Amino acid sequence: MTSYSPIFAPPRFCSHCGGPLSERLLDTEDRPRLVCDRCQHIHYLDPKVVVGVIVERGGRVLLQRRAIGPRYGTWTFPGGYMEVDETAEAAGQREVEEEVGLRVKPGPLLGVYSRPAPNGPGILVVVFRSGRPTGRLRIGREVLEARWFHPDDIPWGDLSFETTHWALRDWLSSRDSQGARLPPRPPLRGA
Ligand SMILES: [Zn+2]
Repeated sequence: MTSYSPIFAPPRFCSHCGGPLSERLLDTEDRPRLVCDRCQHIHYLDPKVVVGVIVERGGRVLLQRRAIGPRYGTWTFPGGYMEVDETAEAAGQREVEEEVGLRVKPGPLLGVYSRPAPNGPGILVVVFRSGRPTGRLRIGREVLEARWFHPDDIPWGDLSFETTHWALRDWLSSRDSQGARLPPRPPLRGA
């Protein structure tokens, strides 16, 4: 059997018929797949898609402290899982409004960052920059506090995920960083 990390548990039952799943190497596939013993449906394991938005105002970036696990209390930019019936831009707009109360129009794309299983849950993070936000800062239930950070004051040692770190580095590189120093790449840690 393929070994998975404790934070990534593959499904054990078929979502179509409820039958048990077995890992099998099929002639048509190039790696073992989870296949339903009853209806033969193949369950492909693929990454979850997260959308994040770098919200800027006057050269500062909006970061928020997480009020939920994993990485409770650490800093990241607004973002979350995409819903199945929305575009990436719509997901980014919704997450910003839910988490910090601001209205933004996500775009252009800053970068796409992947954190494959088994050392994490297997995610793909799509990060947009955004134009100037409108509305008033008002934090949602998944946020402890939100603050505007000058590039020199970004709490590099207390960011939520590696992907947060990578995206903020790219944001700094993509703008006139006005002398802000880029931190080194962090050691591997969660998504
Ligand atoms: Zn089935």
